[in-house]
Amino acid sequence: MINIQSLLSEAKKELINSSVISAEIDSEILLSNVLKVKRDKLIINSQKTVNVKNIKKFNSFIERRKKKEPIAYILNKKDFWKSTFFVDKNVLIPRPDTEILIEQVLKKYQKNKKISILDVGTGSGCIIISILKERENFMGCAIDISKKALNIAKYNAKIHHLENRIKFHKSSVDKFFKGKYDLIISNPPYIKKFELKYLENDIIGFEPNLALEGGNDGFLVTKQVIKGSSRLLKKGGSLIMEIGFDQKMRIKKILEKENFFVNKIIKDYGENHRCVICTKF
Ligand code: GLN
Repeated sequence: MINIQSLLSEAKKELINSSVISAEIDSEILLSNVLKVKRDKLIINSQKTVNVKNIKKFNSFIERRKKKEPIAYILNKKDFWKSTFFVDKNVLIPRPDTEILIEQVLKKYQKNKKISILDVGTGSGCIIISILKERENFMGCAIDISKKALNIAKYNAKIHHLENRIKFHKSSVDKFFKGKYDLIISNPPYIKKFELKYLENDIIGFEPNLALEGGNDGFLVTKQVIKGSSRLLKKGGSLIMEIGFDQKMRIKKILEKENFFVNKIIKDYGENHRCVICTKF
């Protein structure tokens, strides 16, 4: 018979041996998910025994975490903004910094507005779904070049009851010609190819390259998004996009060349320039 306490301390040791820095919290998160209880309940019930089925499941999770697989992929879920999204290795794990995009959209467009939004490179669908849940008059369209990502975004739209308000298309932005939009949002891959190797193992070993890499200079996809948006936006429409921490100056130049007026560039929680808001004139 193994109780919660000894299961956790054993798992913690194993994770530390595999140099997982967040060993304690990771073990607790994984076990609380296996037992389907809140994390604080683990401490209160530390002497309770765990059945064999759950021990096996927990140990298999720990084995995966030892290989640096992100918790979000192990549990197939990630919280973003006010919702939980299904994720697997085919989509980028939603990041807290990306919530700045949502904040900016909600600030700019009040509740009674009726607008149409295009999400370029929707991945898990976390951005468009979070926005549409907050604004019942908005209509959405989401595109991605990955069929597998698109299926996940569709699934997320379904569990959040938005399947009737978001249209999905498998397409890159430069080959997409359907409709004109009031707002385009995007979190494109913007990491330079040679810098990928400096990312943590959890990221580079597991998250899709397609969702991370922005070519040699990091601007390959971003430029396509800007060009495509210039064509797909209504006059006076806006583009709200995530950028890399060192891309501010160049992004301004590219946007101005493509007939955008840069309204503002917002910093993230780590004080990095992260979100650009601009208008097509
Ligand atoms: N739109 C998704 C997100 O922000 C996916 C972005 C991407 O794959 N680059 O999480």
